[in-house]
Amino acid sequence: RAKAAGRNTLRFFNPAMQLEVQARADLEMRLREALRHERLLLHYQIQVDRHGEVVGAECLLRWNDPGQGLIPPDRFIPLAEESGLILPIGHWVLETACARLADWARQPETRDLTLAVNISARQFRQHHFVAQVERALLDSGADPTKLKLEITESLLLDDVEETITKMVALKARGVGFALDDFGTGYSSLSYLKRLPFDVLKIDRSFVFDILTDTNAAAIARTIIALGHTLDLDVIAEGVETEAQRDWLADQGCLVYQGYLFARPEPIERLAPLLRERFDCNAVY
Ligand code: C2E
Ligand code: MG
Ligand code: MG
Ligand code: MG
Repeated sequence: RAKAAGRNTLRFFNPAMQLEVQARADLEMRLREALRHERLLLHYQIQVDRHGEVVGAECLLRWNDPGQGLIPPDRFIPLAEESGLILPIGHWVLETACARLADWARQPETRDLTLAVNISARQFRQHHFVAQVERALLDSGADPTKLKLEITESLLLDDVEETITKMVALKARGVGFALDDFGTGYSSLSYLKRLPFDVLKIDRSFVFDILTDTNAAAIARTIIALGHTLDLDVIAEGVETEAQRDWLADQGCLVYQGYLFARPEPIERLAPLLRERFDCNAVY
């Protein structure tokens, strides 16, 4: 009886599940094609300090699909992670970012900029990840000290020793690390002290609410204080208004990223933004 019901249930849900499985297989196939046919690209979002000067950028992956136009990463990175496609994709992102840094180093106006690259947990956990980064740096000639790898808290959950070993190896080369989306995961504050981060990034979900929600404000304030205690820079993402920027500045957060300054833009539209000096009425 149970067996029959089970079989019925299975048959009952089959069409919907079948569709879902089909849709995912489809997406995966198209993503594989996109990688092969160079339909992935990077957009760049500037990061601005409290004097209104551009200090760096974060590169953000986009998929340019002939049918659907630009597809944002939230719609395909989870699938890329599950299927393993994130490995060749992440490798491509790293190489492309290093080539960009090498290019920037050739011009005085861009020479000092840092470039942040998002690294998925799965990519980081590859046994040859350190070698992969070193190779990308060597091949491009990029300055390692300008490269900032952004990783998330999920990495701190599994093999902490391995994470530390890899971070230390890359730090020895000069590569920097940022803890992305800080506050949204399972914070292992005790590990944070042992990991050689340079930057904490306040997630945009907190920044969005800092002026209206006392909890979000308290979390943001705590992250900034933690950053100071651990001697880390703090970058706020998702800064959309001057009021948010001023609040963050008052609390001691000194670098900002968000639509207030610029959206992530294709490389052709980046040059004028890099020359910009943004207003900041406050004096610090
Ligand atoms: P993230 O690394 O936390 O990137 C910040 C996200 O906030 C970006 O979304 C950016 O466009 C968005 N953002 C920046 N300023 C504002 C703002 O003022 N308001 C609002 N509402 N949003 C803002 P995006 O580009 O859609 O990327 C989403 C996530 O996808 C990234 O979050 C990152 O986790 C992941 N991702 C992006 N590129 C890559 C990549 O090359 N590799 C990997 N593994 N993950 C990537
Ligand atoms: Mg990021
Ligand atoms: Mg982030
Ligand atoms: Mg985020």
